[in-house]
Amino acid sequence: MGLIIFCVVVALLVLGLLLREPFAEFRKRRRERARERKRQWRRDREAARAQRSQERAMNPAKAAARKGPPSWQQVEKRQGGKCWLCGTRTYADDRRRVAAGEERLGSTYPTVDFVIPIGSGGTYEYDNARIAHRHCHALRVANPARTTYGAPKRTYSS
Ligand SMILES: [Zn+2]
Repeated sequence: MGLIIFCVVVALLVLGLLLREPFAEFRKRRRERARERKRQWRRDREAARAQRSQERAMNPAKAAARKGPPSWQQVEKRQGGKCWLCGTRTYADDRRRVAAGEERLGSTYPTVDFVIPIGSGGTYEYDNARIAHRHCHALRVANPARTTYGAPKRTYSS
């Protein structure tokens, strides 16, 4: 009985010694693979960055889509504050605070309207963006075929 246990222990020790080298090799290869994956990930990230910057140069519409819609402040800076639908000025102060952190915007408050609506394939580019009263914008959304707009009245007088 003792001899059998002794033999088994010796066999296991021998097996362990025999397998030590392959195990070390295996671990080394695994480390190398992990390093290679990390390098590949960095290369991919660099490539994606390069592609994005190229895309910005080649295809502004796609880049604009990635960036999302411009704010009315950004559009106003380029085009002025007149509503492109009715031709009268917009009022950034046509709004009222109704509670802490809660604000209601009036009908003459500016918003961004898109010449070709986003839903119809328009882009977020500044070329496609126009300042419009919230009121006029809502009328246009409700009836895209509408061509005449009257100047809206302020909701909140200052
Ligand atoms: Zn208007």
